[in-house]
Amino acid sequence: MPNSQPQQIVACVVYTDRMIEASAAQVIHNSKKIDHIELGWSGDDCTRLYRKTFPIPPKQDELVEALREAMSEICKKRPESLVLASPSPLKSTAPSERGFDSSGYGVTEASGLYPAWSGLDLYALACDACASIIDPMDIHVQLDVALASLGEYHWRLNHKELTSETTRQKQKLYAARVGRSVDQVIFDEHSVSYVKLSSDINAALTQQGVLFEGKGNPYLSMLHPHRCNIIDHGFNDDFEGDCSLHNDCFGGMLTQRALKRRVEIYRSDGLSMNKIALRKALVIVEYAVQLCEILVAAHRPSLIVLDGRVVNDRDSEMGPDGLLISAINDQLYERLAVIDVDGNVSLKPSYIQHNFDEGFRFVQAASCPNPLTYGALAHAANIIAAAGKIVNLGKRSGKQSME
Ligand SMILES: [Zn+2]
Repeated sequence: MPNSQPQQIVACVVYTDRMIEASAAQVIHNSKKIDHIELGWSGDDCTRLYRKTFPIPPKQDELVEALREAMSEICKKRPESLVLASPSPLKSTAPSERGFDSSGYGVTEASGLYPAWSGLDLYALACDACASIIDPMDIHVQLDVALASLGEYHWRLNHKELTSETTRQKQKLYAARVGRSVDQVIFDEHSVSYVKLSSDINAALTQQGVLFEGKGNPYLSMLHPHRCNIIDHGFNDDFEGDCSLHNDCFGGMLTQRALKRRVEIYRSDGLSMNKIALRKALVIVEYAVQLCEILVAAHRPSLIVLDGRVVNDRDSEMGPDGLLISAINDQLYERLAVIDVDGNVSLKPSYIQHNFDEGFRFVQAASCPNPLTYGALAHAANIIAAAGKIVNLGKRSGKQSME
């Protein structure tokens, strides 16, 4: 006789250098006929399980202890699946390589920005902490931004009210023309590149609802940006950089810590507060635009989402919300602009593909309240879907940016 009790699957996220946070999602389905799965959120449909902060920067043994503690707390809920997010790039995220000693699945790379996270076998740690509760095949380790890009993609897909009426009309017409549903059109044709500018710099791409990835994670933060120069910016950027591995890589130039160090140097040089604020803004815009250019060149996403404390810092000198994103859009459009045979400059170059909305901003702030957690749930849901089940991520309102 089939079990009529709803079954619960709990996905969880453990994340960041400063904070360990776990959120639970309930995936409720009727075990007789699985046709609808709802995912809940902490503070809404489900419960926040566990929260712990510890000193910055944590020593690796403290970090391991805290991760263990968080996971054994989660295990009390008897989850069916666990998704672990790492702020540090991973050697391998290919699920087929789980359990093979030499594969490097869920093992973090050396990190100049997160020393405590360097060379950690997160998969083995999770398997050990959740032994006898969660099947090792149901334990997944992924890069935080990768999960966040999934989260942002699925959030937008599930919140069509974010789309303007004009865009929706055009989507409907287009869908009718190609003989498909609007959902199919959006799902198939859109891709979201999610960029985190926070304690680390990284980006990931979700295409047609799944992560664009190889065996391991991209490592954008290690690329070196062009320096701000006196012609375009009025000053030569001689900041030495803050990354212990590459000095002035993106990670060494654009993280919160790097920006803070830069401000301290400018203060000791006697620059006025106004000048410091202006330089900081120029630096953020310039290097963020360079990152976006790289993403456009490599992936041509339909949207770039910028998130993280560098762009969401309310106390920054950047002024009102959105100013930074606006400046980044303007600069990027200018940088990628194309000139036609008549010499007309197009501010919406063909590299930036968006079929529907004229007033569309290519670079946007995150719209998902917590893209990382939502993405972990989407990741779990994708895995469930891959097993032939239909997945429907739930809705929720509110905004709370990724830290
Ligand atoms: Zn670096």
